[in-house]
Amino acid sequence: MTEPATRRVDMEKIVSLCRRRGFIFPSSEIYGGLSSCWDYGPLGVELKRNIKDAWWRAAVQERDDMVGLDTSILMHPQVWAASGHLEGFSDPLVECKSCHLRWRADELQGDSCPSCGGELTESRLFNLMFKTFMGPIEEEASVVYLRPETAQGIFVNFQNVLNTTRKRLPFGIAQIGKSFRNEITTGNFIFRSREFEQLEIEFFVRPGTDKEWFDYWLEERLNWYVGLGISRENLRLRQHAKDELAHYARECYDIDYLFPMGWAELEGIANRGDFDLAQHISFSGKNLDYYDEETKEHIVPYIIEPSAGVDRTALALLCDAYDEEPDKDEIRVLLRFHPSIAPIKVAVLPLSRKENLAALAKQVYADLRPCWMVSYDDAQSIGRRYRRQDEIGTPLCVTVDFQSLEDEQVTIRERDSMKQIRIPIKELKGSLTAKLGGERFDTQPLWTTGG
Ligand code: ATP
Repeated sequence: MTEPATRRVDMEKIVSLCRRRGFIFPSSEIYGGLSSCWDYGPLGVELKRNIKDAWWRAAVQERDDMVGLDTSILMHPQVWAASGHLEGFSDPLVECKSCHLRWRADELQGDSCPSCGGELTESRLFNLMFKTFMGPIEEEASVVYLRPETAQGIFVNFQNVLNTTRKRLPFGIAQIGKSFRNEITTGNFIFRSREFEQLEIEFFVRPGTDKEWFDYWLEERLNWYVGLGISRENLRLRQHAKDELAHYARECYDIDYLFPMGWAELEGIANRGDFDLAQHISFSGKNLDYYDEETKEHIVPYIIEPSAGVDRTALALLCDAYDEEPDKDEIRVLLRFHPSIAPIKVAVLPLSRKENLAALAKQVYADLRPCWMVSYDDAQSIGRRYRRQDEIGTPLCVTVDFQSLEDEQVTIRERDSMKQIRIPIKELKGSLTAKLGGERFDTQPLWTTGG
């Protein structure tokens, strides 16, 4: 449903639309903002909820080999010793001796400060985990970390889930939650921030079947983005070279999206082997293995991890849906969101504020609200109101006019084609359901199903 492929939108336009229409604001804006932290406004929160719901539905609800989990952000510090984060979760950092800006050494082009040209310090490793203190005394013994990934909460609960759900291999555990990284290089809007939300699956399999499951998840996850309406041409799989692989990974691919700044990671899919469970067995001294009834053996399962981000998915959806087209002397800006992702599904627009018309329109509005996120707009001309809804990606508008008072019919107007049909009010819910599901206005399907 989006325009094909190579059209690249300007990031400034996305940032400005998000700010203007209430998708995303800088955090603590009245105090000048907080670097790389963002607040999701009334439309942004709906967009995020839709992403998370679509992911949960695909990852958990529609599968019989997956369960969900919601673990705490603060975890025992030993978790991060076992996972390798205390030792290895760091980037090389250099500081400018003149302006004191800090840079990632592995991302620098030359050997002087990109901002002022000053001399740089030797590089040193900088751990990306946020540290805080638990309890009233700020001493080393009570140091805890804000989790830099949700995955560890899943690994340490492997036995709990096994014992309470009686799941057998292969099966997965899925979790949505906030993670925190004290990133050195941030920027590109919500692409890399210091606080973000992850969508993580840890899929436990018998060693020897890991390659097959790895390939399965690559395809499954790629298709998920396509089902949300992201153009296939703007997605690609990129294999990590051997020297790029994380310490735990046997094989890793990124699902990249063609963002305004170029191809960049949307999701990482890794074959983690038995690294995580083996580490936690060794550090905790607890038995986290699995008794295989088929082979009568105790085994440590291998793990396939598809790890995605809510914020990067939101950014990809915004970039992919953004479109501009000539409209008489003006430009029509629209977000061609798939209906499953659109923050508002239907807008009810009375042609005038006259009392009898408003009463009917409000009745229609009240009837639809239990079914979908619906908005009501009676300010300014109908043309302007259509444009406002186009700009936030509302797939359908329902217009109530004076004739509606007589014939009990309303007009449905479709965002992408701007086509209109007139239908009886008593058929409205059914008709909107069908159209949000992709039913044609004329000969073309409105949307493909999925997502
Ligand atoms: P990058 O190198 O681009 O920072 P990464 O390889 O460190 O990403 P992973 O550790 O694989 O990222 O995390 C899995 C997913 O979590 C990423 O694909 C991304 O969607 C999301 N993610 C990771 N770091 C951030 C961040 N700082 N801001 C927003 N999303 C993030």
